[in-house]
Amino acid sequence: MENNQGLLVLKFGGTSVSSASRMRDVASLISNDTPKIVVLSAMAGTTNALEEYASYLYKQDKISARALLAKLKSEYLEVIQDLLSSSEGKQKGKELIESHFNYLENFNRDLFTLFEEKAVLAQGEMLSTALLHYLLEEQGTFSVLLQSLNFMRIDKNQEPDDYYIRENLHRELEKYPEDKLFITQGFICRDAFGEIDNLKRGGSDYTASLIGVAVKASEIQIWTDIDGFHNNDPRFVEKTKTIGQLSYAEAAELAYFGAKILHPTSIRPAREKNIPVRLKNTLDPDSPGTLITAGTSEGGLKAVAAKDGITVIRIRSGRMLLAFGFLRKVFEIFENYRTSIDMITTSEVSVSVTIDQTDHLDDIIRDLGHYADVETHSDQTIVCVVGDLIAEKEGVAREVFNALDDVPVRMISYGSSSNNISLLISTKDKIKALNNLSKNLFQ
Ligand code: ADP
Ligand code: ASP
Ligand code: MG
Repeated sequence: MENNQGLLVLKFGGTSVSSASRMRDVASLISNDTPKIVVLSAMAGTTNALEEYASYLYKQDKISARALLAKLKSEYLEVIQDLLSSSEGKQKGKELIESHFNYLENFNRDLFTLFEEKAVLAQGEMLSTALLHYLLEEQGTFSVLLQSLNFMRIDKNQEPDDYYIRENLHRELEKYPEDKLFITQGFICRDAFGEIDNLKRGGSDYTASLIGVAVKASEIQIWTDIDGFHNNDPRFVEKTKTIGQLSYAEAAELAYFGAKILHPTSIRPAREKNIPVRLKNTLDPDSPGTLITAGTSEGGLKAVAAKDGITVIRIRSGRMLLAFGFLRKVFEIFENYRTSIDMITTSEVSVSVTIDQTDHLDDIIRDLGHYADVETHSDQTIVCVVGDLIAEKEGVAREVFNALDDVPVRMISYGSSSNNISLLISTKDKIKALNNLSKNLFQ
């Protein structure tokens, strides 16, 4: 079907709404006639603070919990003073803060559970969206505040329930046929049982992509604090550069392998429905940013990203490896514990795999132990080099390895796709590896 021409989905991340003045910048960016759905994150620092609050509640450390909440509340009360100018607006803002913080305080009474933690984390996005809505109201711009808990939902496998989202979002939007500016919360959703849940840290990008697909938006824009996708991680490497254009495959790979600018799975929905994703800088709205579409642009290596928190499992079995069905048994064990494998390499007597989710590591090691000797190493990092590797032909791999000649490499994955080389290194070597790659490949 045709895209809904002209309808945009714009997502603003935490730093883009981190203060009253940043919120005013967002308000001026969205106050025009283009029909749009605006997805907001919590104000920068809020989700971290709420996570910390939850950790105190788990530990029954009521005093630290109370102190943290009091500090956060006073910061919000200050934002209100700056954000809203009429006494009526300030009063409304204050009531909003009171009601959310009373709700949060109530968790500091009895036993704290995972369900409650999710409800606590959800308050950040509820606050930021209501505050922007109040600001627009004071400025005379009409907006509709949609509650994403009424339409965002994940299923029993923790995957977005596309049908539910589409049907319920449409039902919400149809209530306002004349209106053009909608605001809603990123990150938060309901689970298959209707309880409050979320799309994992950084999940507002995913919300935007899912909404973009549900309404067939003409474009999904991710507004953040940097001028688009850079060719290396700017937190660890100097002189990184914006990439003007990326294909869905390249962007998805980089996001999955650690480029924090995008939530790891946020490209998938847009890619499936061929909706362009544009990364834009709230601090410099006129800079072109990065456009992500189906077509790949000029060939060559595009970017490097790194994903920490990786554990490698080496499974060694002289007897079994060449036997039929050995790999199936190995994979079945990971499947049984719903643990996905990122990288895999094999030799005659051993197979090594990496995982980033270690909740069931002990069970996995025990089960693998029935068939093979098992050895694990944590604190590993996957470095991923992405680009049009076919266009570059054989020179590419050499350039990558030359760049890493003083970094021990534990695993290499090359050839399974034409747009990526992944290498496993020790996390302590990451910054060196990223900088070496930057110098050799991009400068
Ligand atoms: P938001 O709060 O808007 O979602 P994030 O902090 O999640 O913003 O993502 C933006 C940050 O991602 C940038 O400030 C930058 O430090 C980091 N980042 C990591 N890798 C990249 C990259 N390849 N390109 C751009 N930014 C990156
Ligand atoms: N507020 C959430 C977080 O900090 C979601 C997001 O910002 O995308 O992870
Ligand atoms: Mg983010």
